[in-house]
Amino acid sequence: MTAAMLAFTHAAMDAAQRIAEAASGNEWLVAADNDGSGNAWVMNEDMHLLETEEPTARHIARHDPAAVLRRIAADRRLLELHADDYGFCAVCARATEETNSLGHAFHDSLPYPCTTARLIAEGYGWTEEMP
Ligand SMILES: [Zn+2]
Repeated sequence: MTAAMLAFTHAAMDAAQRIAEAASGNEWLVAADNDGSGNAWVMNEDMHLLETEEPTARHIARHDPAAVLRRIAADRRLLELHADDYGFCAVCARATEETNSLGHAFHDSLPYPCTTARLIAEGYGWTEEMP
């Protein structure tokens, strides 16, 4: 399941990255109509891309190609950090009830995929029911 989850997530990231890189422009803005219609334009640096209701335009502009690429890059770094280390997450651990002589708890590594890796995968559409 772990290999399938990671393959799915990396494929979904790659697809989202290709789409964002092919989109018109990088940063999108909103220009609201002042005619009382409630509509607005989603624009890039060069042209109007779409006219829609203002809340929808603001949502689309917030998820412009630059924002999508930033999130994909951050998710890739998170997956690199939360790597499979012989069946355990390379960074996630839980404190045990045992302590050392200074009173600091010992920690056990958590099984892989950890919650972080699973949540990143879920953000790209992975579900536990997938093969
Ligand atoms: Zn982890």
